Amino acid sequence: MKYIIGNWKMNQNAKIIDNFIKSFKKNKVNNVKFGLAVPYVYIEKIKKKLGKTCLVGAENCSEYSSGAYTGEVSAEMLADFNIDFCLVGHSERRTIFAETDEQINEKIKQLIKNKITPLFCIGETLKEYENKETKKVIKKQIEKGLKGINASELNNLIIAYEPVWAIGTGKTADAKTINNITEYIKNLLLKMYGENSKSIKVLYGGSVNSENASNLLTDLVDGALVGGASLNAEKFINIGRNV
Ligand code: PEP
Repeated sequence: MKYIIGNWKMNQNAKIIDNFIKSFKKNKVNNVKFGLAVPYVYIEKIKKKLGKTCLVGAENCSEYSSGAYTGEVSAEMLADFNIDFCLVGHSERRTIFAETDEQINEKIKQLIKNKITPLFCIGETLKEYENKETKKVIKKQIEKGLKGINASELNNLIIAYEPVWAIGTGKTADAKTINNITEYIKNLLLKMYGENSKSIKVLYGGSVNSENASNLLTDLVDGALVGGASLNAEKFINIGRNV
């Protein structure tokens, strides 16, 4: 079964979401687990309306547990809304908000402490891709992001391999590369966590849509993290229909 997880980023509004909910509820796709990472303020509404048919997650959380951190939202607060997962280390957080591997590691620890599945995003920049550093970069991101987390704490961890140059650009990595990198990630996790690593899902993200999804998601790839094409319910559902 493939996971098709949307990431709304800072998009949508209450009216658009009402229409999305109406269209999404009509979906009947077997063998696909849909999920939506949505802005904090809409979590409760989406959970209430779509929580039975769709995993519901947040797009970020604080690296701190509580205190004087104006504007931050803790993993403990998110747990109050029974969210299913939370994105961590999305490339937009890493680049625009200068998040470091160390902060990402703290966020993952906060999520695990609060029994929320981390959806941990990794991926190389265009420069790193051109320098053929993809494996080196993702190895470092995985080792630093998961530092101090042991095999019994993985809490259904999901990893999304998202080449930064493919996010929102209309360009995708090719199917062979996605398959190879997924295999590399799964082997690395096997070395780190042994048999327990087999529960970790590895998704691909970067300009996935209903036309390219079936070609990009080989058997080894557990699904997709989808930005732009998750904003419209029909387009989003069609990705699930086509994989
Ligand atoms: C993303 O934001 O994680 C993403 C993959 O975006 P898009 O599908 O728009 O490239």
